[in-house]
Amino acid sequence: MYQEYFTEDHNIFRATVRKFVEKEIKPHIEEWEDEELFPVELYKKCADNGFTGLRYPVEYGGTPCDLFMHITYTEEMIGSGSVGLISGLGSYDIAMPPVLKMGTEEQKQKFLVPVLKGEKIAALGITEPNAGSDVANIRTRAVRDGDHYIVNGAKTFITSGCRANFITTAVRTGGPGHKGISLLMIDSSTPGFSVSKKIRKMGWCCSDTAELSFEDCRVPVENILGGEGMGFYGIMINFQTERLALTTMAVAVAELALAESIKYAQTREAFGKPLSGFQVTRHKLVDMATKVQVAKEYTYRVAAKMEAGQDVTREVSMAKNFACEVCDKVVYDAVQIHGGYGYAREYLVERLYRDSRILSIGGGTTEIMKEIISKVS
Ligand SMILES: Cc1cc2nc3c(=O)[nH]c(=O)nc-3n(C[C@H](O)[C@H](O)[C@H](O)COP(=O)(O)OP(=O)(O)OC[C@H]3O[C@@H](n4cnc5c(N)ncnc54)[C@H](O)[C@@H]3O)c2cc1C
Repeated sequence: MYQEYFTEDHNIFRATVRKFVEKEIKPHIEEWEDEELFPVELYKKCADNGFTGLRYPVEYGGTPCDLFMHITYTEEMIGSGSVGLISGLGSYDIAMPPVLKMGTEEQKQKFLVPVLKGEKIAALGITEPNAGSDVANIRTRAVRDGDHYIVNGAKTFITSGCRANFITTAVRTGGPGHKGISLLMIDSSTPGFSVSKKIRKMGWCCSDTAELSFEDCRVPVENILGGEGMGFYGIMINFQTERLALTTMAVAVAELALAESIKYAQTREAFGKPLSGFQVTRHKLVDMATKVQVAKEYTYRVAAKMEAGQDVTREVSMAKNFACEVCDKVVYDAVQIHGGYGYAREYLVERLYRDSRILSIGGGTTEIMKEIISKVS
């Protein structure tokens, strides 16, 4: 299926990721979810298997490939049943693109190379307690003092923030608005940096999410990416691929919830017959399958356009909203089909229901996507 998008190379890679998920993740995922953290060694294992750095240049330890290889990876990792895991492992993929696209050779060697080797952890620090969707309004300040910036402020909801070594941090070096924003690479060993809170969440439990504090952090001037005032640009260039990744996750979660529901409906009996024997259940499953199929087809189409170099700002926002809406409905129905068991921790659909809720909030909320769609013709 989908031969227009996936080749034999994708299929081989898919089998490799699936094997990894079966061996290295599935046997432990319940424990990691309960402990609210996956082991740090997993970063290295992923890097050693060539999963880290897909689409990054080979000279920095990456694997040049197309978007569909990335989609293949995401789809298979969602098979682990934990969206938090893939998001935690993937925090580098929102933190490192500005380093790759705007950084100097020295910055790439210092930050990108160890991250792609799985030796260091990277996080992206944009959101603040008082500025989420309104990125241009961030307040964390970086004031130049000789060959350092003195950074003061706070970030919140930072994926992998509790144990990141490098934080690609949005700071204000200039006046108000988006033109005053810069991106600064901050090493978590810098005095004055601290994790002020590990945030406990509804889902994405095994992925750590942090509130960060910067108090008179002295950061070398050479850690700025692309110069002062380039931060907003750096944040924006990343958004389309991040949104496509979240869209892919939403579709893959919905597909997994559907598969679980079909299996359950065929085995669970009520009133002397399997649930799938009731027309109302079959029709519910058909509606779920239809929604998943349409969302998947559109997501692949948008990815193909992106891969061809077309501007898909509008389409990717539409795809994200559509896929998240489909996912919300499908996981809701999946829990319903499972009855009381759908509400129990032992059943996968319970976690899929919780883990998917953030997809329409992170990377730009549904409302912000609509604003973008209404403005881009
Ligand atoms: C688990 C998790 C992981 C995250 N990871 C990261 C990370 O790694 N790095 C990072 O920087 N951030 C991260 N975030 C933050 C995330 O990007 C923000 O939560 C998101 O952008 C929304 O910002 P906010 O929470 O401040 O909500 P707000 O911006 O305050 O929005 C609240 C509500 O108001 C609506 N709203 C806001 N503005 C408008 C408008 N103009 N028109 C209509 N409606 C509007 C929103 O759509 C939303 O419904 C993460 C969040 C979570 C929960």
